Amino acid sequence: MNYAEIKTYDVANGPGIRLSLFVSGCPHRCPGCFNQQAWDFSYGKPFTNETINCIIKELSFPAY
Ligand code: SF4
Repeated sequence: MNYAEIKTYDVANGPGIRLSLFVSGCPHRCPGCFNQQAWDFSYGKPFTNETINCIIKELSFPAY
């Protein structure tokens, strides 16, 4: 699996403060999609154990 982006301290994608993970690949092709570059499943970076560990570490901060 690849991911397109990780947004830390995200307040734009739901209530409160969160970490948002945007994975790559979407087959729906909705008109007006604001994320067309990530339709390709190979877009972005590989989602690795290192990525998981970075997310877990980030989420340990008290702001979340
Ligand atoms: S809006 Fe874009 S990313 Fe979301 S389901 Fe539609 S095509 Fe996929």
